Amino acid sequence: MGKSLRLTRIRNIDVKVHPTFLLALLWAVYYWGYAAGHGAQGVLFGVFVLIAAFVSVVGHELAHGFIAMRLGLKVHDITLLPIGGVARIEYVSLTPRQEIAIALAGPFLNLIVAGLLSPVLIGVMIVRDFPDAGSAFLVLQETGFSALIAYLWLVNVMLALFNLLPAFPMDGGRVMRAAFSILWGRFRATQIAVGMGQALALSLIIGGFLLRDVSLPLVAIFVLVAAYVEARMIHLETSMRTLPVGQFVLWDLGGVQPDSPLNYALRGGVRDVAVTVNGTVVGMLWQEAVHPLLNSASKLRVRDVMDSDVLTMDIDSSVYEVHRQMLTTGRPAIPITEGGIYRGIFTSDRLIHVHRYLQTGKSPGERYRAFVDALGLAGR
Ligand SMILES: [Zn+2]
Repeated sequence: MGKSLRLTRIRNIDVKVHPTFLLALLWAVYYWGYAAGHGAQGVLFGVFVLIAAFVSVVGHELAHGFIAMRLGLKVHDITLLPIGGVARIEYVSLTPRQEIAIALAGPFLNLIVAGLLSPVLIGVMIVRDFPDAGSAFLVLQETGFSALIAYLWLVNVMLALFNLLPAFPMDGGRVMRAAFSILWGRFRATQIAVGMGQALALSLIIGGFLLRDVSLPLVAIFVLVAAYVEARMIHLETSMRTLPVGQFVLWDLGGVQPDSPLNYALRGGVRDVAVTVNGTVVGMLWQEAVHPLLNSASKLRVRDVMDSDVLTMDIDSSVYEVHRQMLTTGRPAIPITEGGIYRGIFTSDRLIHVHRYLQTGKSPGERYRAFVDALGLAGR
């Protein structure tokens, strides 16, 4: 999503729009200006409907974001795609209840908006003297205020209903995953939710074929890709939980001593390195702290620059636990100890080795099998 255009920033959350969103604009111009035969007025109306839909989607994603922020998570940004929005929330394990609260916030906001618009819509129906609720749909063929209110109402109802479908990557799928994870664990629950997502994608493709609607298969592709990404992530998480960190630590000559001159300590290059005394970790030398001092490195000792706030983890911890600790504390490296004695350092660079380890030793057949497993297609 690197090429997305930043529109605004709301409570520290960047709201961005992906270039492909222009496709939705072109479609709106085509649909209301040309296909519906309203000309220039239709084009203007289409743009208004698109803005209304756009604001509804941003509201939906912001609702997820605000609840996540309340629960202490970092929300990076919200990106609008032609088929919906994506909120990038920093990934940290949540309790099922927290996950459900974040997932329900989006559809809940759309239901509130639709609820608030309902009296306005009913008012319009009364003023316009529509005989029954069914004929109110005729207003959707117009290009005025009534139609705009009707579209705004419809977009919010659809956003709520579609997102509540119990399938990944919809919010309903997240709610279902969280509820099932209490019974069967997160991995199995994800497989079920991903499987439901694939069933949904399949029915969208069939539906698109039967209704001759191109937009349904497009949504299906989005559903499949998002479900695949989520399945990969949970697969990786499950693998990382079973791998002991000891296998991936870097000995790094046992760290550096506090009394060493800084330039001697950094002879192997500027890096995050543990400061030890007789095998006990007494601090960290962060490359971030060292960089601005490189010119005077010959006059300084390690103890002048080191961070004596010590945080170590045991060698039996899983890679997952250590990685999580790094995320929550914001530390790029954590010294690993065995019975209190320094055994090596685990840095964020080491994660590449973990990923590589999880990939190697697999034949194409096994990789395919892992892929199928990750997608939750295996009939177990
Ligand atoms: Zn949502």
